[in-house]
Amino acid sequence: MIRLNVPYTDHRELVEIKKVISTGYLTQGTKTTEFENLVAEYIGCKYAFAMSSCTTALHLSLVVASIKAGDEVLVADFTFPATANVVVQLGAIPVLVDINLDTYTINIEDLESKITPKSKAIIPVHTFGCSADMEPILNIAKKHGLIVIEDAACALGTTYYDRCCGTLADFGCFSFHPRKVITTGEGGMITTNNPEFAEKIKLLRNHGGIKNGYWYHYLAAGYNYRLSDINAAIGVAQMEKLSYLIERKRELAKLFKERLEDIPEIQTPIDPPWNGHIYQSFVIMVDDKINRDQLIIELRKRGVETTIGTYALHAQPFYQKSFGYCNGDLPNSYKAFCKTITLPHYPQLTLAELDYIVKSIKQSLIYCYNS
Ligand SMILES: *Cc1c(COP(=O)(O)O)cnc(C)c1O
Repeated sequence: MIRLNVPYTDHRELVEIKKVISTGYLTQGTKTTEFENLVAEYIGCKYAFAMSSCTTALHLSLVVASIKAGDEVLVADFTFPATANVVVQLGAIPVLVDINLDTYTINIEDLESKITPKSKAIIPVHTFGCSADMEPILNIAKKHGLIVIEDAACALGTTYYDRCCGTLADFGCFSFHPRKVITTGEGGMITTNNPEFAEKIKLLRNHGGIKNGYWYHYLAAGYNYRLSDINAAIGVAQMEKLSYLIERKRELAKLFKERLEDIPEIQTPIDPPWNGHIYQSFVIMVDDKINRDQLIIELRKRGVETTIGTYALHAQPFYQKSFGYCNGDLPNSYKAFCKTITLPHYPQLTLAELDYIVKSIKQSLIYCYNS
């Protein structure tokens, strides 16, 4: 079986983990600070805070932005559910926004049309490692006084013109889940250039306590959203590999595109002018004649593990029940949800495997026409 994703690790992760264990201090400490500094330096931001996940990073960003019950938060509809779940958890209302079908990122016209006096924040998603078009988003936010939180879960190292994703808005949120560019097992990070936000993140990540001599006193009812130094150790070793990982992912994406180009039923991902796409995932779209679900099954029969692109939130039972959405209300997102496939795409993938995947797609398609 050619797996969908395999984390890229070697002895360096073990060396860093051993160092942490030998100190006898395992929770958030100096290794976490080292990891944070590496990420901050790489993307070029003032502050970076390691978190237990991207989900907790998104949640804490909303808390620090003072999002309250009844506020509206505009969220790109085509994403992993965590992006909007955190809004719901605060009693705020996720207003789902459609996407563009070329980049799978938030559609500016739909975004602008959904702003109301209750709007407080926008969460654009850098889908599959492709940057959203941030300039018009930031202009809209400025005009209406909205906070912008980049869901950069898949975009560590992605650039928007000459700057990195995660440094463009009020907050950037990254994930180090094993399916992302680099991994810490589980983990995330919030980045910001705002010193007041940074103070609040630091406080609330660690129960709302600050050290006063040999113990803490508590200024807020905070969370435990820390990353352990064991996880951070993996992150430190992974950061050494990041440039190579991005380079290799781009190379593989180019090879896939060349080989899939002549298949009329398939659309390969594009690289818009503003974007330094890192191809965290390589996602293709099949046209209306093709049954995507059947294609996933056919590929599995041939030993190729694939999955859908990601989710249309408005098509999920919870969002339909709670907010009255119906399938297809956001037509582009719905189409992407029904018609995209993520292919195996990681540095260890050999050229022979890549060719086998392409051959398997070609062989499978004839069994996947809608009747
Ligand atoms: C993976 C992902 C998340 C959640 O990240 P975790 O670290 O698993 O919490 C959020 N948003 C997007 C777009 C993702 O791809």
